[in-house]
Amino acid sequence: MPDAPLTQAHASHVSPRPSACPGLWRIVSARDGGICRIKLPGGLLLADQADAVAAAAERFAGGVIEATNRGNLQIRGIGSDHRGLVETLLAAGLGPRDAAGDDVRNLMLSPLAGHDPAMLLDARPLAGQILDLLEGTPRFHQLSAKFAVQLDAGENLAMLEHPHDLWLSALRLGQQTWLAFGLAGCPADGQVLGAVPADQGLVLVRAVLERFLDLATPAQSRMRQLLEVCSATDFIDGLGLAIRRDAAVLAWRREPRSASWLGVLPQAQGIALGVAPPQGRLTPAMLRGAARVAREHGDGSLRLSPWQSLVLTNLQAQHIDHAQAGLSALGLLCHDHEPLARISACTGASGCAKALGETKADAVTLAALLGPGVPGSVHLSGCPRSCAVAHVAPATLLARAPGRYDLYLRDARQPGFGALRATDLTLNEAGAMLDLPTEHLDD
Ligand code: SF4
Repeated sequence: MPDAPLTQAHASHVSPRPSACPGLWRIVSARDGGICRIKLPGGLLLADQADAVAAAAERFAGGVIEATNRGNLQIRGIGSDHRGLVETLLAAGLGPRDAAGDDVRNLMLSPLAGHDPAMLLDARPLAGQILDLLEGTPRFHQLSAKFAVQLDAGENLAMLEHPHDLWLSALRLGQQTWLAFGLAGCPADGQVLGAVPADQGLVLVRAVLERFLDLATPAQSRMRQLLEVCSATDFIDGLGLAIRRDAAVLAWRREPRSASWLGVLPQAQGIALGVAPPQGRLTPAMLRGAARVAREHGDGSLRLSPWQSLVLTNLQAQHIDHAQAGLSALGLLCHDHEPLARISACTGASGCAKALGETKADAVTLAALLGPGVPGSVHLSGCPRSCAVAHVAPATLLARAPGRYDLYLRDARQPGFGALRATDLTLNEAGAMLDLPTEHLDD
């Protein structure tokens, strides 16, 4: 789709590492039109910005807004006026501080960063410094648009399974808070390589990024690729930092906590509310409505989560029922016992040429077949790329033809989606299998 250059400053956005991923300026084509991705700082979206996104999706696109599994938003079905769309989003403060720093804004936080009762530190100040570093350092703009950092401050509500090129996780040793870290993995099962005092977090991130760019060839755009030829120990040794690597650090493991991301979420002070758009897709009315509830009953902000959901923070207890009723009336899912809240799906054939099935529509059909006891979550993927989830779901249905799927169950001993349990299932057959207790799926 043709588009005039935006402004001179914006014309410099092109990453030295070409990317097929959507960005604010890099609107990529899909079967249903252009896709523009809006990267949010730590998932934070102010109510006025939510209104601006809703208006832009109506005016410049077909009105489909997606919550991504990295806590960002994207607008789909964009027509030919890219310039108008991007300028609307920039006017709402949804661009990077430096135009060239759009792609690199990949920092994941808990949606309850700064509010979670279990946090060991407030991640937001350090997160702001890391985002400034990423956006304001021209050399770091060479990083791949997928190169990603996670800052986990020990919150109950934390996505611990998404792989990141660098992850940091808070731990307490004695009276001091440290940041354990690992490379090319995730806090849930990644190997801890060392720790630095929490106030050295920014120094560590800068050193890791510099060293990555010093060592990586153009073909090694991600940390895991570099670690195939450079040991993690050699990488760490070359950082030039005092890294704590004693047994207390290396044996430490981040404990997963089973916090739901839907419904009432406790904060250290106040209450948060988690809601999810079905299949991660928001209509402009949903986004506007959620912004209105956040303004009326919360702190006027929304947090996008890696579960493709929204969190409204700082609500008062007496307003929860009213807020929840309003969000539910918008069509947002408020409880994780709702089967649709347990099912994710990629775009599917209506929006993606690679898809072998209409995954989103099939997910709705499947949800109606499932009882409330479905274990874990189910992911429908139109092809093996599995765009919609960054980790392996407990159960994956991989499309093989319209309305027909292969069923995989997560198995840490097997690569990809896990163990293949059944092939060529209809949705009815898949629903019947998924409604069984997990142990019976082996029968
Ligand atoms: S997982 Fe495959 S089919 Fe689904 S959106 Fe991604 S590329 Fe398309």
